[in-house]
Amino acid sequence: MREDYGTALVTGGGSGIGRAAALTLARRGAQVVVTDRDARSASTVAQEIAAAGGKATSVAMDVGDASSIAAGFDHAEAAFGGTDVLVNSAGLMLVEPLLDFSPESWDRVMRVNVTGTFLASQRAARGMAERGYGRIINITSVSGLRAGVGRAAYGSSKAAIIGLTRQLALELGPLGVTANAIAPGAIETPMTLGTYSDETWDNILAMVPARRRGTPQDIADAIAYLASPAASYVNGETLVVDGGYMAAGMTQTGRLRV
Ligand code: NAP
Repeated sequence: MREDYGTALVTGGGSGIGRAAALTLARRGAQVVVTDRDARSASTVAQEIAAAGGKATSVAMDVGDASSIAAGFDHAEAAFGGTDVLVNSAGLMLVEPLLDFSPESWDRVMRVNVTGTFLASQRAARGMAERGYGRIINITSVSGLRAGVGRAAYGSSKAAIIGLTRQLALELGPLGVTANAIAPGAIETPMTLGTYSDETWDNILAMVPARRRGTPQDIADAIAYLASPAASYVNGETLVVDGGYMAAGMTQTGRLRV
């Protein structure tokens, strides 16, 4: 059995969970291709990896654009050869009331979150299948498992990613490739810091048995496990990393006392 991570490509690697995944995989010896729609943030993370003694390159990749995905993989292959590990972390959350949700917002969220994950996975999987080895890790959300206010598109897109992950697992499993998803709970990243007020955080934390905000590192450590050769018999799974939020039911609020 192989022991190394090989080459890992991370989408949305310039920020939040993707950044933590890139840094963590690099610390564990992966050569990392950091991609983001913002070339500068991707390049900054690649420089952080290099400064810490790791190996990384960066390239702009907008997962909402098929030609940008293709160009990003071309760059990755020229720099480091084929992709052994793909982390699909790029994501877009637009929150609008259901009755007013615009078709344009719906299409944007689906294109980035679902079609982007599909196209990047398909491109990476072609090379993985040829080489007989690969790990695909898709970042879904607890919003793909439970409804959330204003999340008609976001929640539906994250549920679609869970289905897509199973589809990838079924069709790629015989070729030596696993595909799994991680469903983070509320993680402190630029995405949530730009959306949640302190009151929202308080309301969320009342429902989280761990009673703290999740960190990007909490998710990166789970990604590193699923990306490792050791996870070879885990396939098609969605791993919830949420401080216990999904485990609880109607009386989960921390404000209730027994
Ligand atoms: P983040 O800090 O905003 O990171 C997301 C990164 O993806 C950003 O750099 C963003 O760039 C980039 N991105 C957005 N659209 C893109 C596109 N079309 N192509 C390429 N990159 C794009 O947010 P995060 O919290 O780490 O989110 C990472 C993933 O975790 C997302 O899929 C999100 O849905 C998921 N997630 C997050 C939480 C949470 O609580 N934070 C919970 C569950 C799931 P810009 O900044 O330029 O938009």
